[in-house]
Amino acid sequence: MTILSVTAGSVPAVTAYADVVSGLISLRGVSKTFGTGADAVHAFGPVDLDIAEGEFLSLLGPSGCGKSTLMLMIAGLLPPTVGTIEMEGRSVDGPQTDIGIMFQDNTLVPWRTVRGNIELQLELRNLSVANFRDRIAMLLRSVHLEDFADRHPYELSGGMQQRAAFCQAMVHDPQIMLLDEPLGKLDAMTRESIRSDLQGLWMQQKPTVIFVTHSIEEAIQLSSRIAVVTPRPGRIDQIISIDLPFPRDFDVKNSSAFVDYERSIQEIFRGYGVI
Ligand code: ADP
Ligand code: MG
Repeated sequence: MTILSVTAGSVPAVTAYADVVSGLISLRGVSKTFGTGADAVHAFGPVDLDIAEGEFLSLLGPSGCGKSTLMLMIAGLLPPTVGTIEMEGRSVDGPQTDIGIMFQDNTLVPWRTVRGNIELQLELRNLSVANFRDRIAMLLRSVHLEDFADRHPYELSGGMQQRAAFCQAMVHDPQIMLLDEPLGKLDAMTRESIRSDLQGLWMQQKPTVIFVTHSIEEAIQLSSRIAVVTPRPGRIDQIISIDLPFPRDFDVKNSSAFVDYERSIQEIFRGYGVI
């Protein structure tokens, strides 16, 4: 995979759907239908997808196209109606506890401090908190929360709560992270700042990330590849490699390569009739 190469100013490469790498996570013929008979809703698929170790893959698609449904299936929290999902060669047929998960609404409990919430994730997995002290300190520093470790969630802004939720999702050092619109409810400036911290953590820790967003700009800034999801029932008909060097700071958005990616992806969604 050429995730670190630079093609400044060139026309973005739109790879064919079939041109995927074989991966850490493999989906084959995965589809999901909710309900039966006249009430059945075909939410997602069928989809084949391979996600490589260490990549940052975004699922980019309109609201209701089945992105969250797909994340729940990969996490083993919802069975596919048809198809198979494998993680590191093992079939996913129940909740995956070694991965890190984060949603738009965080799961911080109000009666514990930031540190207590992070430690809770270790306790739930029967891991020794003492062995993770340095990692917790590193994570808190990475998201600029080192001075708020002993505060409760109600004492934090929405952005700070999501920063704490990142630490929660990463504390047990997961190889795979599923992030479902984690920045969705935040204001533009906070989003920008957390994106940068998230990218820094990904570059440093190198987990495999599947990131859901409906922001074209966010997907281009963060991703090594973008899977473009069609309106419901969501299918992946384009995988776009973003060949811009990391880290990608605020200024990258002014580069001609970035703007070219933006235009070509807007064109795809215009074709679906969603913009
Ligand atoms: P997205 O995350 O892309 O916005 P979702 O995965 O949440 O989309 O939903 C995809 C479709 O599946 C929607 O039409 C939604 O109404 C439907 N859906 C999701 N979950 C359920 C459920 N538990 N029961 C019935 N329909 C559902
Ligand atoms: Mg969703």
